[in-house]
Amino acid sequence: MKANIAIIGGGIIGSSIAYHLARDGRAGDIVVIERDPAYGEAATPRGSGGIRQLFSLPENVAMSRYGLAFYEAFETAMAADGEAAPISFRRQGYLFVSDGGDAKTMEANFRNQEQLGVGAEMLDPAALSRLFPSIRNDDVALAVYSPNDAWIDAYAALQGFKRKARSLGASYLQDEVKAAEISGGSVRGLALASGERVEADVFILATGAWSGEAGQLFGITLPVEPMSRESYFFRSEQDLEPLPFIKSETDLAFRPEGTGYTGGVPDWSVPGGWNWELSPSRFEDVVWPALAHRVPAMETLKLERGWRGHYARNRLDYSAIIGPWSGEPNNLHIATGFSGHGIMHAPATGLAVAEMILDGAYSTMDLTRFGTSRILAEEPYREQGIV
Ligand SMILES: Cc1cc2nc3c(=O)[nH]c(=O)nc-3n(C[C@H](O)[C@H](O)[C@H](O)COP(=O)(O)OP(=O)(O)OC[C@H]3O[C@@H](n4cnc5c(N)ncnc54)[C@H](O)[C@@H]3O)c2cc1C
Repeated sequence: MKANIAIIGGGIIGSSIAYHLARDGRAGDIVVIERDPAYGEAATPRGSGGIRQLFSLPENVAMSRYGLAFYEAFETAMAADGEAAPISFRRQGYLFVSDGGDAKTMEANFRNQEQLGVGAEMLDPAALSRLFPSIRNDDVALAVYSPNDAWIDAYAALQGFKRKARSLGASYLQDEVKAAEISGGSVRGLALASGERVEADVFILATGAWSGEAGQLFGITLPVEPMSRESYFFRSEQDLEPLPFIKSETDLAFRPEGTGYTGGVPDWSVPGGWNWELSPSRFEDVVWPALAHRVPAMETLKLERGWRGHYARNRLDYSAIIGPWSGEPNNLHIATGFSGHGIMHAPATGLAVAEMILDGAYSTMDLTRFGTSRILAEEPYREQGIV
């Protein structure tokens, strides 16, 4: 098979790239190679779908802002073949809570966010209680509330990107990339599990938490590994005011979902690797106490289910890796290492990768600092404060 552009991995990142390339009209034939169209182990269907502008790095703020506008218009803008693309966009805000002794960083980030026009507000404990009376405030130094932030159904967005990319001419191939043929400093083709071969001019690696091993196929070292995370769905037995997506310095993260809540307390210290086993005690020992502490009414919550998913964790700095590989092979682009931000940053990544491939430069957002040269130089470019 011959294409102009081959994308390896058809999760939300690969599919957004396929869509942004296809809509431009100059990309030629685009093929997305995805081994599992049911996405049984992929991160996208397991993500919480949060979209926030509360970051310290200006690139992350800009990418989220593009994502917010994009997802707000998604249902109609991404309609394909006469069918709308609903993604349950819900603008209910984000709340960052400083309860871990790092209020200075949160305040500094807030000042930056103000400059960038995020539209967030900084709350002292009394103001926090006035807005969200169910939240305990006596150990909170300050909080930052970003009412414009939102969340979506990430799986629906993935399907929407995919349908739209296909309607614009991109094709999806169900297969697994097993090897890359490299000569003269360029990738010439891919060998697939089925025995097929795909030739292309440009290749894009969008393989999420599998990117460490996928990089090896191209002879490159990406510091990306799977980081297993538990999530839960639970209900409060008491009615609470509508809450935003809450994240604390002490790593509690949860948001409303239907008639209950979804979230958990990620453990950043877990060693890299795949782990699908739910811990028998983590919810009771860690998550429930954290919830009941922050929202005392949750003392009586009811756990309904738990599951695991995997971040693509970039060991160097936890930030995304986006851009052309610097060095050889010279026709390989990378889009991975998104940790917990790949859903909100998928639209911006798709746009930026398409600009880089089609125009040779970024025009909407300059993502140079997320590029691959920092990986080779081992120079971290890291978020400050809550990741
Ligand atoms: C619990 C949890 C909560 C999260 N919450 C949020 C959130 O609130 N907001 C947010 O923005 N992000 C969140 N994320 C992160 C987000 O889900 C990911 O960053 C995003 O889904 C990554 O998309 P992706 O396309 O890179 O990876 P994936 O969705 O994992 O897709 C990668 C695809 O590559 C395919 N693949 C891999 N190797 C090969 C190969 N050799 N050949 C063919 N195909 C291959 C795989 O089959 C897979 O389908 C969360 C993640 C988790 C786990």
